Amino acid sequence: SGARVRRAHSKRPPQYLERDVDVKFTDVAGLGKIRLELEEIVKFFTMGEVYRRRGVKIPGGILLCGPPGVGKTLLAKAVAGEAGVNFFSISASQFVEIYVGVGASRVRALYQEARENAPSVVFIDELDAVGRKRGLIKDSGGKERDATLNQEEVMLSPFATNRHDILDPALVRPGRFDRKIFIPKPSLTGRVEILKLHAQKKPTAEDMDYVAVASMTEGMVGAELANIVEIAAINMIRDGRSEAYDLLQAAQIEERGMLDTMERSPEIWKQLALNEAAMAVVGVNFPDLKNIEFITIAPRAGKQLGYVRVKMDHLKFSNGMLSRQSILDHITVQIAPRAADAIWYGENQLSTIWAQTADNARSAARRFVLGGFSDKYYGLSRFWVPERIDEIDLEAMDILNKCYDRAKKILERNRSLMDRIVDLLVEKKSLTKQEFFQLVEEYGQLEPYPPSI
Ligand code: ADP
Repeated sequence: SGARVRRAHSKRPPQYLERDVDVKFTDVAGLGKIRLELEEIVKFFTMGEVYRRRGVKIPGGILLCGPPGVGKTLLAKAVAGEAGVNFFSISASQFVEIYVGVGASRVRALYQEARENAPSVVFIDELDAVGRKRGLIKDSGGKERDATLNQEEVMLSPFATNRHDILDPALVRPGRFDRKIFIPKPSLTGRVEILKLHAQKKPTAEDMDYVAVASMTEGMVGAELANIVEIAAINMIRDGRSEAYDLLQAAQIEERGMLDTMERSPEIWKQLALNEAAMAVVGVNFPDLKNIEFITIAPRAGKQLGYVRVKMDHLKFSNGMLSRQSILDHITVQIAPRAADAIWYGENQLSTIWAQTADNARSAARRFVLGGFSDKYYGLSRFWVPERIDEIDLEAMDILNKCYDRAKKILERNRSLMDRIVDLLVEKKSLTKQEFFQLVEEYGQLEPYPPSI
């Protein structure tokens, strides 16, 4: 019956063949050295004989893994495009199914087609099964999926091989591949390159500051960056502008959702501005929090009221470890909006605008004590926590109060800087890094560091 199935497939036009795949390496940006590895794979196709004659075992399967949207699919297509071979693809959601038999026969058909149309790139996209739609498959269970949870992977097989293990969906798993290539999120330069590549196809202002946009999109992947360019172009048409389009604004929309159109009273704008300004002005005093990239109070639908974007690249070098002083600095920044409200409006006029950040500060102060950072409880063991819980809370409160006083002191020294930032934020809704640091330069009274606490 196997033979019958095979014959049936070969009569039909190939089902999994993607026609007109016209992707080249020049369509993929920001990859740095990874590109060289992919170029080598292309050579396995174009110069296969050279490798074989020298006894090189050409990999039968290559796994591209990395977070969603970094360009794995695009890369697989580029490999096929550069090598000038056919591209076959199947999404894992099509073969990891409730009826395992159906899934397996689809993969078999895919490989059969690929063999008949060799040379070809076979691409199995795991995205749907483990990535974005994870919620949907959760209930239908299955061991083969558990193995790949949390790790987005796509499989790229440069040759349609005869290997039968390849028919097993469970092979989409690390360890079964001759080579594994990790595609990370793009670096700052990577983001600049990706933005430029996509903007190339659109009318762009000559003086577009790509580095500024790349700086405020730390952590974003190629798919999101492509979307930013798309949003900017749509906005340009909507606003009837013909030349410059606003990538910065689009980047914010991509990150925080669409601007909401809600009207706010001048007083509310001012409170929002004070809240964000306080965090920025206090934060700029501290080494770990001073790299402020962007401040905004432009409301986003369903998202937070405003934010200060701080570049935290340095944490990569310390593996995310923070110093004791740095933790205290974080707490101080989180409690700063509460202090600002007290200074500018007075204790009797407090709003609830700072409730969330104050809550963050409170729990951080408690973790600080429980973690053994307080000099009073440095030897704290979790075993004696239950009996000491009141003491610990008192100590956390003490830490929080000290941070609060420090925030207040910094804010009081910087009243004119605060007022300037608040005015400008109310007027423009957002401040760029340059605008912010210009004001700091002119009006700031930065505190000597490290402070005593
Ligand atoms: P993945 O397969 O890793 O989830 P995709 O290849 O599907 O990501 O990326 C989706 C889209 O995002 C691409 O079609 C492309 O427009 C854009 N994109 C992603 N990464 C890059 C990149 N490195 N260079 C250029 N564009 C990219």
